[in-house]
Amino acid sequence: MLERGELAAVSDGAAERHDLKSQWERVKTRLKAELGDATYASWFQNVDMIGVGDGKVVLAVPTRFIRSWLAAHQTDRLVALWQAEDPSVQKVDILVRDQVRAEAAGAASASVSVMASTPRAAAASPRPSAAPISSVMANAPRPGSGYASGPIGEGVSADDLGAPLDPRFTFENFVVGKSNELAHAAARRVAETRDVVFNPLFLYGGVGLGKTHLMHAIAWEIRRQHPERKVLYLSAEKFMYQFIRALRFKDTMAFKQQFRTVDVLMVDDVQFISGKESTQEEFFHTFNALIDHNRQVIISADRSPSDLEGIEERIRSRLGWGLVADIHPTDYELRLGILQAKADDIMSTGGTINIPPAVLEFLAHRIVSNVRELEGALKRVVAYASLVGRPISLDMAQDVLRDLLRSNERKVTIEEIQRRVAEYYNIRLGDMLSARRARAVARPRQIAMYLSKQLTTRSLPEIGRKFGGRDHTTVIHAVRKIDSLCKEDAGLEEDVDLLRRMLEGGPAEL
Ligand code: ADP
Ligand code: MG
Repeated sequence: MLERGELAAVSDGAAERHDLKSQWERVKTRLKAELGDATYASWFQNVDMIGVGDGKVVLAVPTRFIRSWLAAHQTDRLVALWQAEDPSVQKVDILVRDQVRAEAAGAASASVSVMASTPRAAAASPRPSAAPISSVMANAPRPGSGYASGPIGEGVSADDLGAPLDPRFTFENFVVGKSNELAHAAARRVAETRDVVFNPLFLYGGVGLGKTHLMHAIAWEIRRQHPERKVLYLSAEKFMYQFIRALRFKDTMAFKQQFRTVDVLMVDDVQFISGKESTQEEFFHTFNALIDHNRQVIISADRSPSDLEGIEERIRSRLGWGLVADIHPTDYELRLGILQAKADDIMSTGGTINIPPAVLEFLAHRIVSNVRELEGALKRVVAYASLVGRPISLDMAQDVLRDLLRSNERKVTIEEIQRRVAEYYNIRLGDMLSARRARAVARPRQIAMYLSKQLTTRSLPEIGRKFGGRDHTTVIHAVRKIDSLCKEDAGLEEDVDLLRRMLEGGPAEL
């Protein structure tokens, strides 16, 4: 994280630099201990210390959003921690790296390149991604036009063959986390090098997790770095459509020719051709011809090659010969990173809109399905706020997104409830199932039964069975008991409420 600091250390004031660096390391260690790993990673992971002077510490952060949050919540703490290292420090100045960069690159690119460096993205993709997007766009085709770089054989124009690229789907705008780092690294590698390192690159993962985004990003990047290379991106569906059309017009030779002269072929959502035999056959020929000529092929699908039912065995196994990179469902940290990037983008273009961090944290907790829904949720909240002219708040977000939140509700299991409740009351998990009747274990057990009834769809007998084979009448009794106790005992009601919220909120983070 301190690459620049370290470089400077070689040339001037090495000892002093070194000292500063270890001071900063100590401050960060303390912050991490105070804030916890997850919060620390969300906000401090990619904060650089630029220097100290005139009683000021200067920090650089990736986004405006992170700057606002740090300024609002952490400056006092930062000053205090620095003073412990260096009593002359009175103030912390926080700069946004991208603003500095964007100003240099021209105002037009600012809103897009801000997204470049949410914590992990910047860490994983250091300088190349800093190039202004406008340079990519400069030699890109008209927005919305068909896409294939360079001439692609006679007769058929790029508009017929390729599919348009989304200008937002760039590496700069792709936030990297644990779940997608392999796919991202492979995509970058393919985009940046002219050598064919792995062929094909096979990207797979559930819907809305960024496969199409990565493929477009590869196309944009190649176009920027190697504009002479011919890149063709299309969906498997479009491939089939083109093929059928060629058959109808008895033009299959030309069809084949066009594909076989590209340097990089990307076919998105290849699961689409399952069960479609002649399309598969043609696809396979094209695929083999390109691979034999050492042209890069990149494929995406919603499942792994071996799970592609309805696709011939020889094709499936051939698809898995190169590098197979899967994109896992997002984790909380990545969801928050993505939301921060998008929020930053909105706030830097949207005038007065302010999106409180608590709302982003709430969304990252609760919208767990996929990135598309996550983005959609944020957009909806923002659109609503600007329509009715109200500031964005947690309450409003909950209100606007009620349906989405419901469909994202976690399925809580009885085992989870038992574990949580046992932890909360500091009893052994085994006591949930045991026959012990002492109040200290019987009450928590009843609460766990009560929550099982409320939070799962299990029937009373099923719940009874999970609690050491108890009768369903015992469960009914527990539910009634807790219901009535909650009415008279505010403390107990609070406990039950807290447990419910913990269970609904998700596993580890709370
Ligand atoms: P898929 O093709 O896997 O179904 P997409 O590539 O269409 O998913 O992604 C869905 C949406 O989520 C797009 O708007 C995309 O930009 C966004 N998205 C997905 N992953 C990320 C990520 N890691 N960082 C930023 N945006 C992402
Ligand atoms: Mg897609």
